[in-house]
Amino acid sequence: MNTSCIVLNGDFSYLCTVSWKRAINLVLAEKVKVLKYSNHVINCVEKAFKAPAVVALIKIVRMVYRHKVPYSKKNVLARDQQKCAYCGAKSKTLTIDHVIPRSRGGKTDFDNCVACCKKCNDLKAARTPREASMILLKRPFQPTISEFMRLKLKSSGVYQCLAEFGLY
Ligand SMILES: [Zn+2]
Repeated sequence: MNTSCIVLNGDFSYLCTVSWKRAINLVLAEKVKVLKYSNHVINCVEKAFKAPAVVALIKIVRMVYRHKVPYSKKNVLARDQQKCAYCGAKSKTLTIDHVIPRSRGGKTDFDNCVACCKKCNDLKAARTPREASMILLKRPFQPTISEFMRLKLKSSGVYQCLAEFGLY
């Protein structure tokens, strides 16, 4: 049973997920309005009611959306959706490839690092994609928190729920 609740910002962008208890507290405090109820029925002393599934803040909270996601291997793999940037293979044992090799001054950051399967990494070695005749399926980029959230949502299935509201 899904007992968590999606909290949207006042502009309907995704903010976070909270427990249904926290969501009800937010409703009672008149901080949020309920957009969708879940099928999870809560039995109280006085009556039974449905837990909120999606709520939106009444006020818009300006926050960290435009901030950059910090660099880490885990975050590069999440950005690239656990797929090799050269062959597109999905793998649990992906490594990080420096598009411009470190030996040539390539930096360890989101703009120069991609998820890469072992096979492609061995093939590319300390060369640029051009030298190795390999094609990057997608240019690496520095994600912001909001882009990252979107990617995470897509993989978590919450995305579909939000798409129902025309939010993404
Ligand atoms: Zn590959």
